Amino acid sequence: MPPTLYIDGEWVQPESGAGFVTVDPATEEPIAEVCTAGAAEVDAAVAAARRALRAPEWARLAPTARAGLLFRMAELIEANADELAALETRDQGQPLSVAREVSVAGAAEHFRYYAGWVTKLEGAVTPIGFPGTLHYTRREPVGVCALITPWNFPMMIAAWKLAPALATGNTVILKPAEQTPLTAIRLAELSARAGFPPGVVNLLTGDGLVGKALVDHDGVDKVSFTGSTEVGKAIVAGSAGNLKRVTLELGGKAPSIIARDADIDAAVAGNLGGALLNSGQVCAAYSRFYVDRARADEFVTKLAAGGNALHIGSGTDERTRIGPLVSAEHLSKVEELVGAGVTEGAELVTGGRRAPGRGYFFQPTVFAGVTDSMAIARQEIFGPVLPVLTYEDEDELRALVDRANDTEYGLAAAVWTRDLGTAHRLAADLRAGSVFVNMPPIPDPAAPWGGFKASGWGREMGRHALDAYTETKGVWIHHGGGDG
Ligand code: NAD
Repeated sequence: MPPTLYIDGEWVQPESGAGFVTVDPATEEPIAEVCTAGAAEVDAAVAAARRALRAPEWARLAPTARAGLLFRMAELIEANADELAALETRDQGQPLSVAREVSVAGAAEHFRYYAGWVTKLEGAVTPIGFPGTLHYTRREPVGVCALITPWNFPMMIAAWKLAPALATGNTVILKPAEQTPLTAIRLAELSARAGFPPGVVNLLTGDGLVGKALVDHDGVDKVSFTGSTEVGKAIVAGSAGNLKRVTLELGGKAPSIIARDADIDAAVAGNLGGALLNSGQVCAAYSRFYVDRARADEFVTKLAAGGNALHIGSGTDERTRIGPLVSAEHLSKVEELVGAGVTEGAELVTGGRRAPGRGYFFQPTVFAGVTDSMAIARQEIFGPVLPVLTYEDEDELRALVDRANDTEYGLAAAVWTRDLGTAHRLAADLRAGSVFVNMPPIPDPAAPWGGFKASGWGREMGRHALDAYTETKGVWIHHGGGDG
């Protein structure tokens, strides 16, 4: 087993010798053996990150030099783009075009965007009333950050966390999902080549217990987690010991509302993109569609035809638009929810089963006649499943926002309309962290990303992530002079 734990600038194996195998979801064949970190390695990584936090080569590094390290990461990701994309496709299953244009490009963009912020992290002079006293604020790193990531966009989500955490001077321990650890291992290698000092970037591969050990550890100051709502709740409870800072990006069940006046062909194309990217394994995926009854038949027919036309296959085939689901376990979960849809009386218009042969492929599936209480309308499926619900008319469209908001989640929502009034009204009333009008759900490093309600705490991206990775310190200097 190759050493895949990166601690204090060294690649090491676990004392226990424990490991696991990561599998290609398109072929069900093993790809590589990967180490499982134990308690000793968790302690060592936390100790290394704590030392590095205060080490002059990181703590005293000039902002321009720190920015330079992040710019170098972006360049290295781009220089290795083909290899990284191929690795992501093999380990996660996503089509190569998605791996290249979303995962690799998105990771590089994040490092470049936050590299730009390093030299712009300003404090402020505060107009306090206390006489003869200067007050100013400093933005300081939170400390040692555990970055725990899921399997759907392994490299890009790692970059969403690494880039702002490092830009603000923290040290990190990255814990990738056990289903998809390979690009995180490459990112740690690239961080060494970029020149980050030992201990600034650490990597612990392994399962949820490794994540839990980091959450429980008093030497960790912050947890940034993307994953399921269930684990998010466990992290909130587990981090109470030393009151860690916690950022959570959790599940979603994004509604997509198609108004009577919508351009249906554009809505079909945009909803297929918004629902089926990465086989629906996207936290913001559009996953319940509310259509005016007058346009429902046309919408369902075109949606089903569009879904059927997409090539299903290995992500390495350039024609592929629908790759495999990530694992056998996840495939069973999707099959179970589709079965519940049929049992509860939804009309299966197309799809509904796994594709024949090896690999965890599932057909794009469209349900019509779905009602609000059905499991497929309420639960996160995280697969290529599109439940269509209807509403009666313009009057009901006004009230529809209550149906759309009637969920524990609030990550994303979509509106399709040509009417600006409808767009702005629904955008204001939908309880979601991002509302997309006439477009699929696309993240951008400059725009906040995160959820209302049980979809999470805090925001990633933009200046919001800078707040999440810094503490504000107020400095009071009593100098006894003048007014200020
Ligand atoms: P998961 O919650 O099972 O696992 C996510 C990560 O947490 C993995 O690295 C896992 O090893 C680790 N983990 C598991 N148990 C843990 C524990 N008790 N303590 C600490 N860490 C633990 O989620 P998943 O199955 O990998 O990902 C799918 C879920 O992630 C979906 O619900 C999806 O909506 C959500 N997701 C959300 C976003 C977002 O931005 N909001 C993005 C991607 C995925």
